[in-house]
Amino acid sequence: MNRPPADKSDRYDGGPVAALRRIAFLLERSRAETYKVKAFRTAAATVLPLGDEVDERARQGTLRDLPGIGASTAEVIEAAVEGRMPARLAQLERDEGGPLTRGGAEVRARLRGDLHSHSDWSDGGSPIEEMAFTAIELGHDYLVLTDHSPRLKVANGLSGPRLARQLEVVEAVNEHLADGFRLLKGIEVDILDDGSLDQTDEMLGRLDVRVASVHSKLAMDKAPMTKRMVAAVRNPFTNVLGHCTGRLVTGNRGTRGQSEFDADEVFGACVETDTAVEINSRPERRDPPTDLLQRAIDLGCLFSIDSDAHAPGQLDFQVYGCARAEELGIDPDRIVNTWALDRLLEWARPPKHGPSEV
Ligand SMILES: [Zn+2]
Ligand SMILES: [Zn+2]
Repeated sequence: MNRPPADKSDRYDGGPVAALRRIAFLLERSRAETYKVKAFRTAAATVLPLGDEVDERARQGTLRDLPGIGASTAEVIEAAVEGRMPARLAQLERDEGGPLTRGGAEVRARLRGDLHSHSDWSDGGSPIEEMAFTAIELGHDYLVLTDHSPRLKVANGLSGPRLARQLEVVEAVNEHLADGFRLLKGIEVDILDDGSLDQTDEMLGRLDVRVASVHSKLAMDKAPMTKRMVAAVRNPFTNVLGHCTGRLVTGNRGTRGQSEFDADEVFGACVETDTAVEINSRPERRDPPTDLLQRAIDLGCLFSIDSDAHAPGQLDFQVYGCARAEELGIDPDRIVNTWALDRLLEWARPPKHGPSEV
């Protein structure tokens, strides 16, 4: 191809797969709709195993004959193959590559992992290994994969047998990852109406970390909701109480008010049983609200700052939760995902200390 020689600032040495993945990451991080991201993730997966064939096709102009490569992704690949900065990537780096929010950098630098993430096994948008690769690139030592439990059918929650299969996949993925990072076995298990958890003790016992969340009957009266949440917190398998109020403050799913519960009773049970209260970093959740978060701090709770990522780029959301933790002066040692892996696993291993009788 006869192009004028690129000036230095226009150079790009990452190669086509890295360029496509970076575009997808930046789009996900800016909360773009899944369909806008999918083309780039699909193209990266198509190109990854092809090696020199990609260069050859770029020269011959036949990239678009490959499945999953269209006009915009072919343009990115051709530029990257020639060592030029793809225009789409340059624009995204300019518009979306800066810090997501002010503050939070200090606490974020202390985080070693993330306890809440979803793959395409439930309602996430990417395969397990892509979530793991991105967590490594963000500097994490561990990521807990927490796909949904069976009752959450709209989110393709995992049955016992599917979860058992996923655990084998997690082990296989770990075998291929570098030392110094571990993908941990987990679940975001539904808290059922009576406060029991939506998975068998046998399966829960095979996991490393369990996040328990309310996803149904969020408008339940205060007394039964309190009883329901306290029972879930006291369950010997529950390590993290996920997005405790269920509120939605912004975003394309609309807004939703917060569940009513007795915060002193629920957070008191968290303190007694060493259960972490999640600071859910998703911008549309910001859960718990600040008054409840302050109450949990005053009562002496542990916290987990989680991304609740449904796509790799959303793993970067944690800084939103970090900014809130920093603003309220939470001691980083009270945040369980500042802990080293061994300490985290020791803490999460059932049965938890504290009263186990409900
Ligand atoms: Zn959830
Ligand atoms: Zn979740």
